[in-house]
Amino acid sequence: QLRARSAFKLREIDEKYRLIFPGARCIDCGAAPGGWSQVLAEGVYSRQQRPLKRPQTADSNQKDSTSSHKSSQSDNSLPTSLHEMETADSIWAVDLLPMEPISGVTVCQMDFTLPQAKARLRALLGGELVDLIVSDMAPSFTGTHSIDHIRTMNLCEDALYFAQDLLRPGGAFVCKFIMGGTEREFKLLLQTKYTKVRVFKPKSSRADSSEAYFVCLGKR
Ligand code: SAM
Repeated sequence: QLRARSAFKLREIDEKYRLIFPGARCIDCGAAPGGWSQVLAEGVYSRQQRPLKRPQTADSNQKDSTSSHKSSQSDNSLPTSLHEMETADSIWAVDLLPMEPISGVTVCQMDFTLPQAKARLRALLGGELVDLIVSDMAPSFTGTHSIDHIRTMNLCEDALYFAQDLLRPGGAFVCKFIMGGTEREFKLLLQTKYTKVRVFKPKSSRADSSEAYFVCLGKR
């Protein structure tokens, strides 16, 4: 059960650009109520055993012959169902608002634009870079298009500079924006940082909305 209709937008983006892969480390900015995080978790965990942090108990390491979950790995003694093992998350979700937990997703309720939020995320990542950063962040809309446009572009810029720091070379970055003029200049900036930059309007995004997504591939 997807939590938000917006989840279909990330599904469409991923169908076209293939950004999410098993084992990918991802950050979801502006994640609440959690639709995009669910789509990330589907792609990151569904086709592989989630990384093992530690076995739950000595007993849980016994192979259960009745289990329908067969390990594709050579060590069949490891528990293979999500419920059987303690796992290390590889998805981090940030939002101003609280969010119901999702298995495999570390939820951080904070204002992404604050330096403390970036420091916290950096610490949670334990010094490792990520493969994918997505941002569906949207400000509270004022109803004045030019202001809403600029505020959204500010969030995009913030996410871009964060990605400069924590996204691995070759990694992908996606951010939502609202058309309004300055996105052309922002696209030029993105092109200096990524080898491919595309503007994508998902079919699931309302046709009368001026929102679209920058999909940036191959961080330089
Ligand atoms: N992608 C989400 C999903 O599929 O459930 C929907 C995201 S919603 C369109 C935009 C979110 O951006 C809101 O939940 C809002 O709280 C969040 N947001 C806006 N500004 C933010 C900020 N400075 N820091 C963190 N989250 C922010």
